[in-house]
Amino acid sequence: MDFTQAQKRTEELKKLIKENNEAYYVYDSPVITDFEYDELFRELKRLEEEFPILKTLDSPTQNVGGKIIEGFSEVKHKYRLYSLDNSNNYDDLKKWYERVQKENNNNSDIELVVELKIDGLSCALSYEKGKLKLAATRGNGIIGENITENIKAIKTIPQVLSKPIDIEVRGEVYMPVSSFERLNEENIENGQKEFANPRNAAAGSLRQLDASITTKRDLHFFAYTAITEDKSLFKTHKQSLDLLKELGFDVNPNHRLVKGINPVIELCAYWETERFNLNYATDGMVVKINDIFLQNELGYTSRAPKWATAFKFPPEEVWTKLNGIEISVGKTGAVTPIALLEPVQLAGSTVKRASLHNFDEIQRLQINIGNEVLIKKAAEIIPKVIRKRENEDFGVYQPPKLCPSCGAQLVKKEGEVGLYCLNSLNCPAQIKGRIEYWASKEAMDIDGVGESIVDKLWEKNLIHDFADLYKLKIEDFMQIDLIKEKSADNLYSAIQKSKNPTMTKFLTALSIKHIGKETADLIANEFPTLNDIKNATIEQLTQIDGIGEKASNSLINFFKDENNKIILSKLEEYGVNPQGSAVERISNIFEGKTFVITGTLSQPRNFFEEKIKQLGGKTSSSVSKKTSYVLAGENPGSKFDKASSLGVIILTERDFNLLSEGKYNE
Ligand code: NAD
Repeated sequence: MDFTQAQKRTEELKKLIKENNEAYYVYDSPVITDFEYDELFRELKRLEEEFPILKTLDSPTQNVGGKIIEGFSEVKHKYRLYSLDNSNNYDDLKKWYERVQKENNNNSDIELVVELKIDGLSCALSYEKGKLKLAATRGNGIIGENITENIKAIKTIPQVLSKPIDIEVRGEVYMPVSSFERLNEENIENGQKEFANPRNAAAGSLRQLDASITTKRDLHFFAYTAITEDKSLFKTHKQSLDLLKELGFDVNPNHRLVKGINPVIELCAYWETERFNLNYATDGMVVKINDIFLQNELGYTSRAPKWATAFKFPPEEVWTKLNGIEISVGKTGAVTPIALLEPVQLAGSTVKRASLHNFDEIQRLQINIGNEVLIKKAAEIIPKVIRKRENEDFGVYQPPKLCPSCGAQLVKKEGEVGLYCLNSLNCPAQIKGRIEYWASKEAMDIDGVGESIVDKLWEKNLIHDFADLYKLKIEDFMQIDLIKEKSADNLYSAIQKSKNPTMTKFLTALSIKHIGKETADLIANEFPTLNDIKNATIEQLTQIDGIGEKASNSLINFFKDENNKIILSKLEEYGVNPQGSAVERISNIFEGKTFVITGTLSQPRNFFEEKIKQLGGKTSSSVSKKTSYVLAGENPGSKFDKASSLGVIILTERDFNLLSEGKYNE
C-alpha cells in the first residue's frame, strides 16, 4: 500500500473506530463484534507502525476509549487508568516476553501472574482509612464518571475494609451469565431492548443515573489491582491480590503465579475451552509481571502498561448466512429446527450448523433463510443463533405442520414451547434416535454403533428397537455395504460386551423422559435391582433427594407401558442384565451427605465418586443448598463459585481424605 492509500485508509479506520467506541462505551450497544473491532484496531496499528507520520495524538491507538455519559459528574483520577495491549496469537505473547526479558537483562526466569480477563466494566474505588470514599469508571483514563452511589448497590463490594488503610482498588464489575440471560428474558417480556452481551448488561446496569435501578441488577466485582503509597503492604502483584482478598474483596480464584512464558501459553490454551464452564464472561487472559519494582522499571505507553499484556480468545461470535433450516425429530418426539449455515470459523473450528432451539425462538429472532445471522459459541458444543442483521427483512420461517419423518400431525403440548410428534411407537426418526442413544457414550457406550450404522441396519429391516441389537449376528452386519468380516466381528463383540451394564447406564439408555444420567444415578443408588425399580412407588421415588414428581411419574409410566414391557422382556431374553449399584459399601461415614466434585484432582473423578459411595455418600453434578460438600481440585469451575455464594463447605483433596478418616474439623 502506498502512502496516499495508507493515509486514506487510516482516516477511514479512525472514523470507524471512533463511531464504534461511541456505540460501545456511551450507549453500551455495540454494532459490530469485539473481534471485528479488534481487527480494525490492529489494522490501524499496523498502518501507523508502517507510516509513523500517520500516528496522530487523537488516534484511538494512542488513547484509552471511554466517554462520560451526560448527567454523571466527572472525576479526575488520582492515578491514571490504562487499557491493555492485546494479541490473539501465542507468537505475540512470546515476543512480548522476549522484550520484557531484554529489559530485565535477559533474566530468563521472570515471575508472571496469569489472570482471566473478565469481560465487564473497569472501575476504580478509593478508600481512605479503610472507608469507601469515591468510585469512578475508567472513562478516558484521566477523567471518569462518579459512580459512588451505584457501586454501593453492589453487595459484594465492601464499604469498610478489614484494615483502616488508604488504598485505590481496581477491578471489573460484571454480571453473571445466568443473570444476564434472565435480565434479557425480562426485557423481552417487557418489550425493552436486549443487551448484546454480559459486558454491556453490566455497564448499562452500573451506569444508571438512578442508582436504585443498579440495586435491582445482579452485579459483582472482581478486584485485580491495588495501588497505595504505603510500599510496605506488598512487593509483588501476587501479594497485592492476597491483600485484596484479606481486605474483603472477591479476587478471581483462577489466577496463577508462574515462571516463564510456556506455562502462560498452557493456561491460555486451557481456558480457551474451559471458559465456557464459568458463569461469567471472559474474553481472554491477562499476563502481568509479578515484581512491582520491575513493573515500575518497564512503565507505560500512552495507552497501556508495558509490564502487562492480554491474550484475546478466538471470537465467540461471528456473522454468517442462514442457508437453510433442517427439521430434526428427537428420540422423545421433540421437533427442533437447526440452522444450516454458510461454513464459518468460530472459536477455533468450522461451524456449519447452529441451534435454533424451537419455533418460538425463530419467531423471536424474526429470521428466515437468506438472513445474515450472528452466531455464538456458548457452553454447548453446537453454537446458537443470537440475532439477525438489523433492517434485513426476509420474513419469518414458518413451522412445519407434519412430522418430516412419519407424516403425523405435529402438536404443541400444554405448558411446553416446542412442537412434538406424538407417534412415538411408529415414527422412524424417534425409534432410530432411541437406538442411537442406547448405544451412545452417555448410555451403553457401544463402540462403533452410531447414526450411520443404525440407519443402515434400519434400512435393511434388521432392527426395530434397541433390544434388537442383541439378536444381530455377524452375518447381519456384513449385509451392510463396505462392512467386512473384521468390522462386523468388532460391532458384534461390542454389542455383546455391553450386556452387563451398571444400573445407571441401563436406566439412562432407556430414553425415559426426564431421566438423564444424573437422575438415573440417584435411582440406581436407592434400588438394588431392576425389579425394585419397576415396583417403586411415587412416594419412594419423590423421597429421593433430587428427584421430583415429573421424573417419578415418567419412570412409573414407562414401566407400565405395554410396548416398553415387550422391549424389556426382549432385553431379558437376549441376556441383557443390569447390575445393581456396583459399589460395595464399606462404611456409613458419609451417610446422608451429598458431594459435588470440581477441578482437577490427583486421581480421575470416578475414583472419588466410588470412594464417596463406598462410604455411604452420594454424588451430584450440580451445587444446590442441599449439597453437603464441594470437593475442589486445581482450576475449579463455576461450581466452586456457586458453592462459595451458597456457603457450601469447600474441601481440598487433603480435607476430603481427613473427612473420610473421620479426622476433619469443619
Ligand atoms: P480491553 O478490554 O481489551 O483490555 C483492558 C481492560 O481489561 C482493562 O481496562 C480492564 O477493564 C479489563 N480487565 C479485565 N480483567 C482484567 C484483569 N484481570 N487485569 C487487568 N485488567 C483486566 O481494553 P479496553 O480498552 O477496555 O477496550 C477495548 C476492547 O473493547 C476492544 O478490544 C474490544 O474488544 C472492545 N470494544 C468493542 C467495541 C465494539 O464495537 N464491539 C468498541 C469498543 C471496544
